Amino acid sequence: MDTRIGFGYDSHIFKPGVPLRIGGLTLDHPEGLAGHSDGDVLLHAVTDALLGAIAAGDIGSFFPPGDPRWKDADSAIFLKLAMEELENAGYQIVNIDTTLVLAAPKIVPVAGEMRARVADLLCVDIDQVSIKAKTPEGLNLDHVAQCHAVALVERVLEPDELKSMSAVIETQRQLEDVVSDLLSQVHGVPKRRTIAPVYDTEDIT
Ligand SMILES: [Zn+2]
Repeated sequence: MDTRIGFGYDSHIFKPGVPLRIGGLTLDHPEGLAGHSDGDVLLHAVTDALLGAIAAGDIGSFFPPGDPRWKDADSAIFLKLAMEELENAGYQIVNIDTTLVLAAPKIVPVAGEMRARVADLLCVDIDQVSIKAKTPEGLNLDHVAQCHAVALVERVLEPDELKSMSAVIETQRQLEDVVSDLLSQVHGVPKRRTIAPVYDTEDIT
């Protein structure tokens, strides 16, 4: 079996006045997690673990934090992109293991529901998803939520099969159509890797 492993880590600071989103659930808590998106620390760590398993970069290379399109975005979008990258590379998930590190709220009462939600988002069975939680003992980080995630993936498509898929593309025009179609499926719009200016030049006129 051809397997690969990926690791992801994320942290967000607690902030009053926003909903607390962890593992695709909204949890009852006086504070949420600050972030450009919905701040879902667990989904971000899992996204990075999946991208890491196929050496496809990280969440920030696909979704730059300053991009207004991802303001308050549902982090399920990021996970979906990572899964599509995984599928395009010819791999599928074997299992995911995560550890949340946060002082509150208690995760144990909602861990079952959270596993079910994450399994649903990943299109896998619940026994392929593990969610554990610890308090940040001795770290003096009660105002921060952290998550560590590992993902094991296995190859489902041989490199030869991927090659034969591309061999049916006959003309340059077809190739361009297929590539732009794939890009729009995976990214919604083509990837932007340019660094945005820190000011709007059009304002300086
Ligand atoms: Zn994050």
